[in-house]
Amino acid sequence: MKHLPPILVIDDNQHDRDLLSLVIKGAFGDVAIDMADDAASMTRALTDRPYGLVMTEFTLPWISGEQLMDLLREKLPEAAVVVITGGDDPGVASLALRFGADGFITKDPQGLSTVEEVVRTALYWSRRRRTKEDTTSRRIVDGLPVGVFVADDRGVILDANPSLATMLGYQRPADLAHRPIQHFLVDPAAVRGFEAAIATGSPVVELEVELHQRDGTSLWARLRMRPAPATKGMPARLNGLVEDISDYRRALGELDHRSHDLDQSAKDLEELAYVVSHDLQQPLDVLARALDQIDAENGAASPVSLSQARRGAAALERMLGSVLRLTRLERQDLDLGPVDLERVVERVLDLLEAEIEASAAAISIEALPTIVADEGQMEQLFQNLISNAIKYSGDVEPKIRISATESPQEWRLTVSDSGIGIDPAATDRVFKMFQRLHTQEEIPGSGIGLAVCRRIASRHGGRIWVESRPNDGSAFHITIPREESDQS
Ligand code: ADP
Repeated sequence: MKHLPPILVIDDNQHDRDLLSLVIKGAFGDVAIDMADDAASMTRALTDRPYGLVMTEFTLPWISGEQLMDLLREKLPEAAVVVITGGDDPGVASLALRFGADGFITKDPQGLSTVEEVVRTALYWSRRRRTKEDTTSRRIVDGLPVGVFVADDRGVILDANPSLATMLGYQRPADLAHRPIQHFLVDPAAVRGFEAAIATGSPVVELEVELHQRDGTSLWARLRMRPAPATKGMPARLNGLVEDISDYRRALGELDHRSHDLDQSAKDLEELAYVVSHDLQQPLDVLARALDQIDAENGAASPVSLSQARRGAAALERMLGSVLRLTRLERQDLDLGPVDLERVVERVLDLLEAEIEASAAAISIEALPTIVADEGQMEQLFQNLISNAIKYSGDVEPKIRISATESPQEWRLTVSDSGIGIDPAATDRVFKMFQRLHTQEEIPGSGIGLAVCRRIASRHGGRIWVESRPNDGSAFHITIPREESDQS
């Protein structure tokens, strides 16, 4: 680098001063370097010459680091300040940066080998500070509602606007200076993508990334960068825009969920159409045959024909009622809110009191969470599952257990029983509408309960399945995705 401005080195250690002077000359050739080694020589130097670069110890015997930084800003507002630290206390460097240093070097071989780069960056940073602070374009950039930054060619932020600081949870743009963009990327794969993109020097880099915020949370952002090659007096750098797309991502997720829901609705409708055309046919046939019979009996209906007609009509009524229940569930919007499942189950047990007493069912309830769900639908879900557990208990007294487990992504609710179990070949079929494994005479039912449960699970973005063996009980599991607001 040519034309390095006059440099002031402040250090009370003769050996360190000599070493630094050697390193600077090694990196930049013959430059003017003045030395200050005590309070008096420092005060003199600061009134003497307009240095463009100050390289200094942060903690000196005659002045604190904070006071030194204030003094340098006051006396040499245009100079770049690089702090030299012992290297054994990384806190000193970040403290110095916070008090306004433009860069730091550790006093070890590795640190000293970076002197050229650190000085170059510090000079760029200070030049920007003094030339751009008050220009119109700076004011426009500062007022933009998107994050704007300038980084060096390795991704270390040199300058940023207030929107970017706010977006990442910092008070001032200066708080972002010297931090590599990579530190803000949550996903290690995004770090690799970022580094690959800046290494190839592609003209425009666009990435959708999750960024760490200061308080430990994160946001989704679209990062657009354009590398600017080095020009005279300006090192190569990256100019970037950061746009908060968290709302957009959320909407996308919602859309995805809805389209899945619509797919499921379409499948359910198809199933409903099939059911209406096939399953309702059977009671209709019974009814039609009975009416034919009555016709043949010349209107003098026999008790047999009449009871057949009644049976057909009752079956039709029951099935149509079920179709209605399911379509009603379909039309209702989900009313999501916190739902205390323990209270829901208590209410269901109250409703089923008569069945529980009649069957002498033993029901154990483990700790259940409060989840975000539709309360009415949760009640219906547990009512269907618990009443089935009682109904399909066989000849023994039902033993029923209601429990929940959690993973970071979802809740799993389980209703298990000690009843007659289900043939493995039928474990999918039972969730379809009107699919029953028993005749009305054996065990009466509508064949709609589990279809309703499946729909409730899928409307909540979850699944339902059963683990069961004949004569060995059944366990019905439902998963419900967790929301951020869930509590256990
Ligand atoms: P329904 O009980 O009215 O027949 P469901 O849709 O609730 O309708 O259940 C469908 C079928 O699944 C039932 O007919 C029964 O054969 C089987 N089933 C449901 N729950 C259980 C259970 N807990 N144990 C054994 N079989 C069950």
